[in-house]
Amino acid sequence: MIHFVGAGPGAPDLITVRGQRLLAQADVVIYAGSLVNPELLGSCKPSCEVYDSAGMTLEEVVAVMHSSEAAGRDCVRLHTGDPSLYGAIREQMDALDELGISYEIVPGVSSFLAAAAALGVEYTVPQVSQSVIVTRMEGRTPVPEGERLRALAAHGATMVLFLSAGLLDAAQEELLLGGYAPETPCAIVYRASWPDEAVYRCTLATLAECAREHGVHKTALVVVGEVLGSHAERSLLYHPGFSHGYRTASEPAKGA
Ligand code: SAH
Repeated sequence: MIHFVGAGPGAPDLITVRGQRLLAQADVVIYAGSLVNPELLGSCKPSCEVYDSAGMTLEEVVAVMHSSEAAGRDCVRLHTGDPSLYGAIREQMDALDELGISYEIVPGVSSFLAAAAALGVEYTVPQVSQSVIVTRMEGRTPVPEGERLRALAAHGATMVLFLSAGLLDAAQEELLLGGYAPETPCAIVYRASWPDEAVYRCTLATLAECAREHGVHKTALVVVGEVLGSHAERSLLYHPGFSHGYRTASEPAKGA
């Protein structure tokens, strides 16, 4: 059994209890060394074999998984944040399917959630935005035509850009062409939850300049949207005039 485990965004105590337990039991760990905090490996057994996948190919990673399985050893594949987002786990699972090796996925705290915590924001504020678009600027990895930033920008929703910190001139232009106003609040969150975490706030008009000014070109997320501004309507969920399965309204709700 191979366990794909989400390591969380960086702080070692932001891994899940289940992920931590699996790491402590593992005979073999393959971790994404470019972003996973190596402190997490401190909980591994002394006998645990540890591989940094940063310098490995998919074939090499799968070969380690294969030999670990053949030897009846427990293998953890440790991915940054949550494995389902830009984790390249699909190709690993396909290879494991072909080899008849079973696997499971243990979710993790994605960096875009740690970024919301660092910013002190709610991504879904009533009357402002009720959707979060998680996407990226096209780089060496192509993005399907219908998902170009320009097209997604038309929704005006909260948007989080992964893997785009080095492409912000182009991202800014696309987002403006797509329909966000130049004064839309933006934030760059560098290394969310790490000791050197940094938050830079700006507007869409100054996004690329802000990243340049602070020397940010990787390991950062960009958050775009009015939820970063001060405008906020209260939610219906806790409104005294709103009935739901757990509570009956005590006064008429306005706009419910
Ligand atoms: N699966 C991961 C994302 C992997 S892609 C997750 O769920 O977070 C790698 C990209 O994620 C980086 O280029 C950066 O955009 C973002 N990222 C990962 N960790 C980060 C962190 N602690 N702070 C800010 N951005 C981070």
